Amino acid sequence: MSDDRAPLLELRGITKRFPGVVANDAVDLDLFQGEVHALLGENGAGKSTLMNVLYGLYRPDEGEVLLRGEPLHLKGPRDAIDAGIGMVHQHFQLIPVLTIAENIVLASEPHNGPVLDMAAAERQVAELAERFGLPVSPRARVEETSVGQQQRAEILKALYRGAQILILDEPTAVLSPQEAQDLFVVLRRLVTDGMAIIFITHKLNEVLDLADRISVLRRGEKVATVPREGATAAGLAKLMVGRDVDLSGSRTPAAVIGEPVLEVHDLVVRDDRELEAVRHLDLTVRAGEIVAIAGVDGNGQTELIQAITGLRKPESGSIRIAGHEVAGHPPKAAFQAGLGHIPEDRHRHGLVLEFTLAENAVIEDHNRAPISRFGWMDPRVMAERARHLIAGFDVRGGGPETIAGSLSGGNQQKVVIGREVDREPALLVAAQPVRGLDIGAVEFVHDKLIEQRDHGRGVLLLSFELDE
Ligand code: ADP
Ligand code: MG
Repeated sequence: MSDDRAPLLELRGITKRFPGVVANDAVDLDLFQGEVHALLGENGAGKSTLMNVLYGLYRPDEGEVLLRGEPLHLKGPRDAIDAGIGMVHQHFQLIPVLTIAENIVLASEPHNGPVLDMAAAERQVAELAERFGLPVSPRARVEETSVGQQQRAEILKALYRGAQILILDEPTAVLSPQEAQDLFVVLRRLVTDGMAIIFITHKLNEVLDLADRISVLRRGEKVATVPREGATAAGLAKLMVGRDVDLSGSRTPAAVIGEPVLEVHDLVVRDDRELEAVRHLDLTVRAGEIVAIAGVDGNGQTELIQAITGLRKPESGSIRIAGHEVAGHPPKAAFQAGLGHIPEDRHRHGLVLEFTLAENAVIEDHNRAPISRFGWMDPRVMAERARHLIAGFDVRGGGPETIAGSLSGGNQQKVVIGREVDREPALLVAAQPVRGLDIGAVEFVHDKLIEQRDHGRGVLLLSFELDE
């Protein structure tokens, strides 16, 4: 790749508005043959929107796309595919009940004759997989295959249709570190063979590993395009977030440690298979400290937290929250004793996604979603609480009347944390509170947990990240 060549693809002044938000604001971007171009930005920065414009899924309000210098008129993905653009979405678009080969081949010939030579298709797919180093089982039904394999099938589908430009939207989000490394090897090979790749991510180390050039989006605007040489994690983080970000994770130590707010004694909890997941555990969390449970997933952490929050009845032992015995009691008891809970699975347990932010702001028992309570909640009070939460926790993308499910994951997370923290619990149990968040939000959440500690609350942190 060199800059004296003409770009393969140019986005010029792309603006895309959604109600209440400018997702892309006059974005310019160019792409050269033979490069991996990383598109970096926090959640909600506008990366997917920009690529959906390029793939013909969204019509931009302003701006144009040029391919080899010629304007490209994209009325839908079919036009993009015909122009040699392929996209692998964050959520795969394969048909679960069809085989890998059927998905790869059928998708490109949807209006063809009724008879399709499946044996030939499977052969073709196997050859393609071999050639590009993307192993798949052509005859396996998609629903029986791993996420990694489904992703490889999506990439093969784009290659089968002759893509010269490949867009990958956060492809590593669903992969293990090893799978991600394998994918990078394939992508490097593809660009060496002359393809151009746009790689969306919010992870700095991936960008520094893989990309030739890096474009950074922030709140819909492209703030920079830089070569990888000379780029640093700190510099990119600053471009993404718009301010200096502390990547070192160093923190001031706790000032005043107080009384115990959580006392677990000789606790035994069984898992769904009736095996002892927690064996005679003793644990104390005091006011003013953060105690982290480290370790690999599946060592009883989930069962421990379920027991503390009242979602699972322990076999034996005691759990006291702020002096109140709660072991074996329903969740309400733990909440009344002073528990705040940031659950691991925000989507299922943290928010009612169909409810507005105002409604979510007042759900105290997230496991039972007591809708009836709204009967006597004053809507103005609810809206006020929601506004307080939105301002205090930097929730972006909506107001009190916004449906929770329409916010980005990071912002949903902030709503949950905000609501739990606002209740001023004696003990805050935070299960993987930064999972899936980007660096700006991670820093924000960490700051909030430390703030809680400094306000004299005890925090029990469950994390699988040793850094954390
Ligand atoms: P990213 O991919 O960088 O996380 P997105 O492009 O998905 O960001 O979103 C950019 C902004 O546009 C966000 O504020 C998001 O809420 C909003 N947005 C994205 N898609 C839609 C849509 N279909 N309707 C309304 N708003 C949307
Ligand atoms: Mg996205």
